[in-house]
Amino acid sequence: MRIIIVGGVAAGAKAAAKARRTGPDHEIILYQDEAEVSYSACGMPYVIGGIIDNRRKIVIRQPEDFGRDGIQVLTRRLVTHIDPEQRQLTVRNRLDDSEERVSYDRLILATGARPMVPEVEGITLEGVLTLRNFADLARFLSLLQTKRPKRAVIVGSGYIGLELAEALHALGIKTTIVEKSPRILPRFDVEMAWHVVEHLVENGVELMLGEGLAKLHGENGRVTTVETDTGTLLAADLAVIAVGVRPNVELAKTAGIALGETGAIAVNSAMETRMPGIYAAGDCCETVNRLNGKPVWMPLGDIANLQGRVAGENAAGGNARFPGVFGTAIFKSFDMGVAMTGLSEQTARESGFDPVSVEMEGSDRARYYPSRRPFFFKLVADRRSGLVLGAQAVGEGAVDKMIDIVATALLGKLTCADLENADLAYSPPFSPVLSPVIVAAGALNNKMSW
Ligand code: FAD
Repeated sequence: MRIIIVGGVAAGAKAAAKARRTGPDHEIILYQDEAEVSYSACGMPYVIGGIIDNRRKIVIRQPEDFGRDGIQVLTRRLVTHIDPEQRQLTVRNRLDDSEERVSYDRLILATGARPMVPEVEGITLEGVLTLRNFADLARFLSLLQTKRPKRAVIVGSGYIGLELAEALHALGIKTTIVEKSPRILPRFDVEMAWHVVEHLVENGVELMLGEGLAKLHGENGRVTTVETDTGTLLAADLAVIAVGVRPNVELAKTAGIALGETGAIAVNSAMETRMPGIYAAGDCCETVNRLNGKPVWMPLGDIANLQGRVAGENAAGGNARFPGVFGTAIFKSFDMGVAMTGLSEQTARESGFDPVSVEMEGSDRARYYPSRRPFFFKLVADRRSGLVLGAQAVGEGAVDKMIDIVATALLGKLTCADLENADLAYSPPFSPVLSPVIVAAGALNNKMSW
């Protein structure tokens, strides 16, 4: 059997490896448009900020490494067409512009996503960048080295915009974030997101909320000024467009493969599209929110890897299932970890739950232990059932631990009463005697029994 994989960063690379383990005798070919495969896009902001000193360090596997496992990885190959009836692909070789048709028995689409770029005047000026792939990273590094920018404007305040703000600030570049919405981080409840705003400002990042990008001005083909839709002019020798991403679905769509209501490729729990024998994984496809059952598009690296594994196994004849997501995510903004899982209070209400919540200040060590680090923690539960629905944690301390405990509670469908008696690890250097998760669950139990 011949399995072909289209796209080879996170989902595609993982699918190839899993397909090989499941079907040692299958022929596996991976076509990748970029020159690189199997790299961690998530590491790119840290290469830019200088925490990772060499961009090659975020490349996980080379085509030769796949080759040793009997997986043929062909880079600079763009799949331009799928013919599902003939089970054939058209592949363009970017090196010599030749085209060939190739047959497949099973196909895995791992075409990922690309940045949204507003069509405004000046968008093609030199010094206007996006950050998605390895070539973008190279452009960033080259510009930083050769032009030594002094002032950057980042358009968009999603996690990539915020990670880049920190990276550019670390390089001594005065950075302004321009955000069209009056708030940042819409998946978080507003009061939790506000702590991040304060932290950004404390760290010297200028944040302009309620201002969208109108146009970019330049001189001699290079960006000099960003103009917002309220007419504000911001000097900039680097402008970063970080207003979100959209799934690469055109190849699937023109082949008649159905998209879901989020606009990404629809798949079942086997990661199979509505066209039998064709699977999809990663940022190009949607999934389901395990709490409210709604389709959701969650373009994140860990999910791409999990889905790639399932698609690879099933394409090779296995029987794996991907159950959907809770929306667990984390990023770092200066000294703060910013993390959440499950539903925010607002989303819980919109999803038909009767949410009850508690917000508190927690810490990752005993009160008397030196270098304890504080954080804000919010736990959300359903008043009717007592089920835990989600949590948000923002601060210097072990926010990842809090969120991962709650993510596991969601997996186990635990109630606040269950969580209040969780037997978690305690010693003063690691935790207060009762974890903030336990304290918050207790407070919610009290609230629910009033
Ligand atoms: P992609 O990474 O988009 O890869 C798809 C590949 O397919 C691309 O190389 C593309 O060129 C290729 N391709 C597309 N169409 C074709 C075609 N027709 N023929 C051949 N090849 C094709 N996620 C987290 O969970 N945590 C993080 O901290 C995090 N940080 C991030 C930071 C940055 C700066 C960025 C950009 C992303 C970050 N992400 C993070 C998101 C994560 O990187 C993505 O979710 C992940 O890369 C998705 O993997 P993928 O394989 O589905 O798609």
